[in-house]
Amino acid sequence: MQQFDTLIVGQGIAGSLVAYQLHKQHRTFRVLDQGHGSSASRVAAGMFTPVSGKRKTIHKAFFDRLKMAVETYREIELLLGKRILHIENVYQLFEDEAEKKLLAGKMLLPEYKDVFVKEVPAPDGINKGLGGIIIKYSGWVDCPLFIASFRQWLHNSELLIAELLDYSSLQTNSAFFQYNGLQFQNIVFCEGFRAVGNPFFNEPMIPCKGDIISIAAGGNNTSGIIKKNAFYMLPAMDGMSKVGATFKWHNSDEALYETDRDQLEQAATAMLDGAGCKTIHHQSAIRATTPGQQVIAKQHPTIKNMFMLNGLGTKGILVGPCYAAQLVQTIPEANPSGNPF
Ligand SMILES: Cc1cc2nc3c(=O)[nH]c(=O)nc-3n(C[C@H](O)[C@H](O)[C@H](O)COP(=O)(O)OP(=O)(O)OC[C@H]3O[C@@H](n4cnc5c(N)ncnc54)[C@H](O)[C@@H]3O)c2cc1C
Repeated sequence: MQQFDTLIVGQGIAGSLVAYQLHKQHRTFRVLDQGHGSSASRVAAGMFTPVSGKRKTIHKAFFDRLKMAVETYREIELLLGKRILHIENVYQLFEDEAEKKLLAGKMLLPEYKDVFVKEVPAPDGINKGLGGIIIKYSGWVDCPLFIASFRQWLHNSELLIAELLDYSSLQTNSAFFQYNGLQFQNIVFCEGFRAVGNPFFNEPMIPCKGDIISIAAGGNNTSGIIKKNAFYMLPAMDGMSKVGATFKWHNSDEALYETDRDQLEQAATAMLDGAGCKTIHHQSAIRATTPGQQVIAKQHPTIKNMFMLNGLGTKGILVGPCYAAQLVQTIPEANPSGNPF
């Protein structure tokens, strides 16, 4: 029977990053994923920026996470031969006078000094409105390209098992896991919100539905990301700009609704200088979030060598690389043959 170090279940951002860390350590692994067309990772805009929420706070771990994320995605770019990471400023349009005042006050604080660039006029084509500020240390990862190219690399390297895991076919004993004639010392579950069906882990999970649209030319023709309120518009690529995203907490309905598309079109129109917009693509997917937005990166409480990386929530691109690297450090290495004995 063929023996391997680790089986990864799920090839979203989480599973891909765990696989990349194992690859870096020259460990033997396989990734099992049937290729769900609308997983969160295939739909996500992949944006990251230091300032979040209505109160515009900067998470204390932001810069450490950003450093790790940039290093990891640059390495993955070399592996895949594709450009997936785009580092660009955010142009944050002031929503109202209150927000303008809040940001002006934040700008005086030492931790924001290097992050904000003082009030600047809106770029061409963007609503002049009340003006806005530039937020540095921002950007996005082209998630559809990342996930599809990483899948192709796994396939070419014969590391992909293109199947949906049937949990009942997974045999476990205290030393290894067996699945369809293959034997693994470790297993890492990275199924996103579908982990609600995982019979081994019982983690509290909150599904959060999100929609995103791609609008035709006439969108964001600047090189930066435009943001207004909670909505953002990525720079145009291939003649289209992505606009996101909606948040529907406790919702795992994967259907597309016109009302969600209309909400995003309105948000896009408010960012643009007079131009209307037309949706070319409309997608939705379910984010796996947890109470308190805690990432799940852990070993099973009783089953040896069983792990989970999940709950990446709304910031998977930024937090994923740190948690994947930390988790892989805790996964015991099989000997070079993959044989645990
Ligand atoms: C509209 C939208 C916009 C977003 N924008 C951003 C953003 O701008 N920035 C950001 O950082 N994050 C964003 N996110 C969040 C981000 O998408 C998630 O944090 C991230 O994708 C979660 O990745 P994951 O690998 O945990 O889960 P998923 O992407 O859900 O991947 C899970 C994978 O596991 C597979 N799977 C599940 N069950 C099984 C099984 N039994 N057998 C085999 N395979 C299985 C699925 O097919 C899937 O491929 C957005 C999300 C949405 C929905």
